[in-house]
Amino acid sequence: MKSIEDASDRRHKSWCIHCSRTLLGRSTNRDHVPSKSLLSRPFPTQLPVVEICTECNVGFSLDEQYFVAFLGAVLSGSTDPDLQRTEVAARTFASNPALQTKVEATKKVYRTLGGETRILWIPDDERIKRVVVKNARGHAYYELGEPMLDDPVFVRAIPLASMTSEERADFFSLQGISGWPEAGSRLMSRLVTGDDFEDGWIVVQREHYRYHIDHDGSIRVRTVVAEYLATEVLWD
Ligand SMILES: [Zn+2]
Repeated sequence: MKSIEDASDRRHKSWCIHCSRTLLGRSTNRDHVPSKSLLSRPFPTQLPVVEICTECNVGFSLDEQYFVAFLGAVLSGSTDPDLQRTEVAARTFASNPALQTKVEATKKVYRTLGGETRILWIPDDERIKRVVVKNARGHAYYELGEPMLDDPVFVRAIPLASMTSEERADFFSLQGISGWPEAGSRLMSRLVTGDDFEDGWIVVQREHYRYHIDHDGSIRVRTVVAEYLATEVLWD
């Protein structure tokens, strides 16, 4: 991705966007948004990073691991490490038999009326949503310089295939920015230069991760993960 200087003012830079605590005097980490575990090697250069407190960084790691494992199971139809489509999912299942058992237990096999065998996986919604909100906070902060410290009013994570065609059309209809965004934000720079933009989406890595931010008073962050999962987080 293009490295874009964040020239917006520095007023928010001293708080952790996840727990609102000051970063001064606290151990911090540069956190990739999205986590590299949702991407594939070779990684794009200049991935978005935000500085957050180490406690939050560590606190999210199990949820992120679950997210990768669950998505890996859904995409490959299995929790077998050898059958995973991504290296990170394979490694996660191979190194964590307890997680493998946990995800495997959520697998439901059923027969359609036509006699076909289908698999359905039941996600741990809370964990999935924590990762989705974490990424959305990171995207809003990285692109707009806005720390979204409040709880969002709406969060969803749904496979594109599970949406109705109207829902899908709605999800992909992008409003963009109706007001005048703060000069100097990364999103503002992108709008001018077109850096990493494709059809209105900021593409982190093609086929793996893209996101879009609507900013019209409220802030809505949408992502598409692995061209499979649609996520949406809204703050008023
Ligand atoms: Zn924190």
